[in-house]
Amino acid sequence: MPFNFIWHLELELQPSKKIKQTSMQNKYLMLVCAAGLTLAACQSNQTQNELIKPVFSSNDMDLSVDPGEDFYQYANGGWMKKNPLPDEKSRYGSFDQLAEESKEKVKTIVENAANNKGEAGSLSQKIGDFYLAGMDTLSINNAGYTPIKAMLKKVSSISTKDDVVNMIAELQSQQLTPLFYFYSSADQKNSEMTIAGIYQSGLGMPDRDYYLEDDETSVKLRLAYTEYLTKLFALCSYPEDEAAQLATTVLAFETQLAEVSNTRLENRDPHATYNKVSVDGLNKMAPEFPWNDYLNGINVSQPGDINVSQPKFIKAVAELYQTESIDTWKTFLSSVIIRKTASYLSDDFVKANFAFYGEALSGKKAMEPRWKTVLGSTNSALGEAVGQLFVAKYFPPVAKQRMDALVENLRIAFGQRIDQLEWMSDETKKAAHEKLAAIRVKIGYPSKWRDYSELNIYADSYLKNVLVSNQFDFAHDMSKIGQAVDKEEWHMSPQTVNAYYSPVGNEIVFPAAILQPPFFYLDGDDAVNYGAIGVVIGHEMTHGFDDKGRLYGKDGNLQTWWTDEDSELFNARTKLLVDQFNEIEVLEGTYADGELSLGENIADLGGLAISYQAYQNSIKDKGEVADIDGFTDEQRFFLGYSRVWAQNIRDKEILRLTKVDVHSLGVNRVNGPLPNLQQFYDAFNLDANAALFIAPENRASIW
Ligand SMILES: [Zn+2]
Repeated sequence: MPFNFIWHLELELQPSKKIKQTSMQNKYLMLVCAAGLTLAACQSNQTQNELIKPVFSSNDMDLSVDPGEDFYQYANGGWMKKNPLPDEKSRYGSFDQLAEESKEKVKTIVENAANNKGEAGSLSQKIGDFYLAGMDTLSINNAGYTPIKAMLKKVSSISTKDDVVNMIAELQSQQLTPLFYFYSSADQKNSEMTIAGIYQSGLGMPDRDYYLEDDETSVKLRLAYTEYLTKLFALCSYPEDEAAQLATTVLAFETQLAEVSNTRLENRDPHATYNKVSVDGLNKMAPEFPWNDYLNGINVSQPGDINVSQPKFIKAVAELYQTESIDTWKTFLSSVIIRKTASYLSDDFVKANFAFYGEALSGKKAMEPRWKTVLGSTNSALGEAVGQLFVAKYFPPVAKQRMDALVENLRIAFGQRIDQLEWMSDETKKAAHEKLAAIRVKIGYPSKWRDYSELNIYADSYLKNVLVSNQFDFAHDMSKIGQAVDKEEWHMSPQTVNAYYSPVGNEIVFPAAILQPPFFYLDGDDAVNYGAIGVVIGHEMTHGFDDKGRLYGKDGNLQTWWTDEDSELFNARTKLLVDQFNEIEVLEGTYADGELSLGENIADLGGLAISYQAYQNSIKDKGEVADIDGFTDEQRFFLGYSRVWAQNIRDKEILRLTKVDVHSLGVNRVNGPLPNLQQFYDAFNLDANAALFIAPENRASIW
């Protein structure tokens, strides 16, 4: 699901559709808590000093800065200095650092599979051969664009509109998605059932704004995109002037798609993007497109109900199908094939792809080493196969038990905070409690693994493996239509450093790879753990109650469970947060988008408040908690939180993320929410003179 149906903690680091043990742990094996005990209670039979291992170093901080002036710099300045941006990164932070560590672990698994190939058809053989084929640059470079020649030839032989629709369907079956996604997901108003869905796509640049805005950056990027397309056509043996012509045609065509595409903000509206129709209804909605032929082409002739997320877009695409010439369609479809396969072809394609997506869009200065990109596509194709080997090697059962206990502590604290809300009616509170109690929790890895036995992988062609696994994945996705939702399914692989909330599943999910420092210290200081992974848990829980999540009931259905008055009060409170973020200048003349990032900012603020409360609960009967390195436990809570968001970032990436990402930048995930919390001022003895100070009446307090 490439869309906003699950809400991540952080931008997905890989364009993926799916994705150390110390001796201390033995000690904890004997100290495992019964679920429900607090983390602190587990540790109470030891003294603080024996137990607590300092988990952050003041070297990571910048003590020359006043915490009230710029808390982010104060907490992370040392780390930022020690970790300059590598050339191949547009952003590098704690998150990315952990993701790199996860990649190194996955690399040992994948290389091991490549070196000791198992029996034909085994997971190890598939993983190993997928990786080997991707690393075989000699063969890949010799082949040039041969792997896509047959597809391009097929497009060039198109002579009727029927051929056009067949090609659109064929590309969709390989997940090359020329115009719109066709996918399956839970019905948002009947969350037990899986239905088909259609979602806008078709743009080669990351957002409609790049096609439609006239600021200098957008104009430059359009030029760079046209040059990129020209280069791709030229690499496929089109004469230079013809290649330039074709690129212009593609840009003009995609601009038409951009004009009828929803904005990101519009796509955050669950009601407006819920438009369930039958196939007949779809034919009525967008009659110019031969839907039945298309559905036959993707092998889903009877999908039943289909949710059309953006009817305006689909109607316009259907009209374009009629009005655009066959030649334009051929040019566009060829561009889709070349562009979407470029990163799996020879070096000249890979470089052209990097020059646009890496350099022009994100400001990267160098490509990643090849093994990392091949690892990314191996993860993408065989995520749960790699994941099985990953958790067996790197995820101790004790980590899951500790997390279970933490999650329940957070749930209790969230419940207490609901009870304390002064503005909410008892009626809405009761429903909020029910929803909170119903949140399902997934930690580490799925209870059952995806079956890859029907997927055949060979070491002879990288692109072929990618397309075959795309086809396998698409068929799997289609097979779910009309079936009951599989509640055990995961939408993220265990080796992914991220977490998510699914509103339609009302579930929070924490893959194994995020349960590592600086998020989770198995043998570390509680105050830091509550500030880091505790806030992550609280963040994901709060998504169920953010401006969009609150529109879903406890069973994951879009339904109203709020009184009108409570909704109004909620909106007034969130408006404060929108206004605060709209005032943040991310780069000279560019401001954060408080509306686009509202859900994430509510989740950060809620996560902090809830986890702080959970931490206070955990130390209630403990007496005085000792300082570590001269910092009180309250201070360590906020420092632990901030450390998670330490990052360096390029200006181009700031601009791109501000446009496309619902998450705030690292600095604003720290300096944004903290000044809304009185506990933060208290911990660092800050008063109204602090630059970050927000007067109590202007502070946002939501959960
Ligand atoms: Zn989030």
